[in-house]
Amino acid sequence: MAIERRGDPRNAARDIAAMLQGAGHEAYFAGGCVRDGLLGLDAEDFDIATSATPDQVQDVFPRARGVGEFFGVMLIYRNGWPIQVATFRTEGPYSDHRRPDHVRIATLEEDSARRDFTINGMYWDPVGERLVDFHDGEGDLARKRIRAIGQPRDRLEEDHLRMLRAVRFASRFGFEIEDETAAAIRNHRSGLDGISRERIGEEIRRMMLDPNRGDAAVFLERLGLAETVLGESSKCGDDVKHLASIEGRLERSDYAIALAAWALDRDGANAMVSPAPSWQDQLKLSNADRDGLREILEIRTRLQSDWLKLGVAHRKRLASLDWFEPARHLLHVLAPGLAANIAEDVEVLRRTGLAPPRLLGGAALLESGMPAGPHFSEVIEAVYDAQLEGRIESLEEALILAKEIWQNSSRSG
Ligand code: ATP
Ligand code: MG
Repeated sequence: MAIERRGDPRNAARDIAAMLQGAGHEAYFAGGCVRDGLLGLDAEDFDIATSATPDQVQDVFPRARGVGEFFGVMLIYRNGWPIQVATFRTEGPYSDHRRPDHVRIATLEEDSARRDFTINGMYWDPVGERLVDFHDGEGDLARKRIRAIGQPRDRLEEDHLRMLRAVRFASRFGFEIEDETAAAIRNHRSGLDGISRERIGEEIRRMMLDPNRGDAAVFLERLGLAETVLGESSKCGDDVKHLASIEGRLERSDYAIALAAWALDRDGANAMVSPAPSWQDQLKLSNADRDGLREILEIRTRLQSDWLKLGVAHRKRLASLDWFEPARHLLHVLAPGLAANIAEDVEVLRRTGLAPPRLLGGAALLESGMPAGPHFSEVIEAVYDAQLEGRIESLEEALILAKEIWQNSSRSG
């Protein structure tokens, strides 16, 4: 069932905090939404931290329900907006470097200490309009830096995924990673091996869809993380021309474009088909993303080595592939002249139709008396090539040509 959302999520979250406070509990906006608010950005979602236990939250919001996986987190819908309300908590040792061994109810200050970075460890009281900031997150926002709360070494050791989160936040906001935090990431980089490929892949996808994807790639290389993330050692250093050539946020369905750019920045012209299979495993890519990555690199290579030699029909077939334009765009980075010529050629080809409906299909060919057999689809494609080249313009001409091709090919065996 689709729930209709009304008003804005911030007001919905403020109402919830106000109701918890009205019932005698502490309640704050917490984490990402506080950071985004101070940066003047619209938060993706609003999370509330409260001193109320889950039972007490339920007393105030009878329809709240627990979020299975997470201790003490309740989900409340307000005006159709889902708001997570989490009881202040502290987390015990992380013997598996991913998940705390235990969690228990805590004070606000303890709750802040379990969070990853200072800019993510702030609280905002939306009723009293007051910031609570135990770790100088506000200062780090002003200094534009990502700094671990507490001892970076210990915090990254607890949860190795935080290394990738540091890179994601730093690139997204155009921040630096503070020295000690960066040094700790370098020391722990091999620890990423223990993190599930799904979680790594999700972090990388979020970095690559973001407009600052080039910065993310540079951080990953500099910190020595790219090798573990991608399972290969070639390097792109700071030179990420291909990634930098893609502007703006990418849609989820265009992830393959960023991946192809990244492959080209890492491997240059060698980035043909090779990364697709291993990157699929390393980053848990969907089949669609893997195929897209492979196709973009293949088309780009064909454009570079074959375009000038291709006839009209081949050019039209290439230019009407789904990933043609991204591939041409990426070719532009190292071969701007050729890519511009290709664009002009395609404009001309477009006037006579890049992929017009076929004059002759299988059914019409069978009807004309041609027997189905090994040459059948060859004949159909050859006739379509002739159509793309403007050599035939009607079904009649198509059938005559089909017969000719058919007779020639049966004569030659
Ligand atoms: P985004 O805008 O990307 O969602 P966010 O800061 O809201 O950023 P979330 O993953 O939604 O990130 O997490 C919400 C908050 O929970 C964070 O701001 C941080 O305080 C805390 N948090 C999340 N993941 C971790 C982690 N792995 N280790 C420690 N704290 C974390
Ligand atoms: Mg969030």
